[in-house]
Amino acid sequence: MAIILRTIKKETLMTKLLPLVALIAASFSALAADFPLKDKPITLVVPFSAGGPTDRVARDLSEALRKQLGTSVVIENAAGAGSSIGAAKVARATPDGHTLLVNHIAMATMPALVRNLPFKVETDFEYLGIINDVPMTLIAKPSMPANNYKELATWIGQNKGKINLGNAGVGSASHLCGLLYQNAIETDMTTVPYKGTAPAITDLIGGQIDLLCDQTTNTTSQIEGKKVKAYAVTTTKRLTTPALKDLPTLAESGLKDFNVTIWHGVYAPKGTPADVLKKLNQAIKAALKDPEFIKKQEGLGAVVATDKRIEPAEHKKFVQSEIDKWGAVIKAAGSYAD
Ligand code: ASP
Repeated sequence: MAIILRTIKKETLMTKLLPLVALIAASFSALAADFPLKDKPITLVVPFSAGGPTDRVARDLSEALRKQLGTSVVIENAAGAGSSIGAAKVARATPDGHTLLVNHIAMATMPALVRNLPFKVETDFEYLGIINDVPMTLIAKPSMPANNYKELATWIGQNKGKINLGNAGVGSASHLCGLLYQNAIETDMTTVPYKGTAPAITDLIGGQIDLLCDQTTNTTSQIEGKKVKAYAVTTTKRLTTPALKDLPTLAESGLKDFNVTIWHGVYAPKGTPADVLKKLNQAIKAALKDPEFIKKQEGLGAVVATDKRIEPAEHKKFVQSEIDKWGAVIKAAGSYAD
């Protein structure tokens, strides 16, 4: 009797479950075929303030993607906590390809710098490709008396204990660069966190903070307009961008091996259907070949990613190597990591 009952239950269960399974499968393939939905924009979540470097690349990308996908692509700034608020938002979003994250090197530095990170970089996201690489610059308030890096180093030596260094929160690119810099010159500074480097640069121009390390995509026009003073670039080679080509590298200024380049990538929530991811990846690849996108990015010192770097598997492998690399560097930087 028990066997018969169990068989009936199993059969009833199967007859009830099978159509449901078929329905779910059908709805996913319908989703992939219909993607992007006409009545739902694609939202690029930027985990920093509007007007900053991550916002800049996301806005340029949104325009190029709009042309590829034939749908509206909007920006949502979910700023704060060095990008972990915006990243957590995307990790929890509906995985339908309509909510994506644009974030930078913080995806690799947050695991080492942020306690109780509310997501796992390795397992809570689908990787859609690297977009670009961007150098950073060390800049100061316009009233800074130093006229070159050597004079800045002297000024720092004379003002120990009184220097304010801005950043975009723990785990951000400016935070990473700032802690490496403090470590290299063995000087503690008071770090002032903002929700992005757009508000930080406003305060730098106003003289509320003394120093900032930020991507060239945010600093080039301010350097050109002489709104801030610039002292060095963080890459191992000098840059070719006209407004930046005379800046020395930190490495040639005495900080041997100083080398920070910021990369940006695109992510979807884990569980986004494979077909949707494929469509998005193809659209990103095409968007990155858009001459207008390339012109805007290169004009600000950024290098647009090659097809190989836009491959999801390459992107994931690269992020893992960056997590390993920066985890060790941050540990070695010790107290400057606070
Ligand atoms: N450049 C910022 C950072 O330091 C982020 C931003 O505002 O885009 O991470």
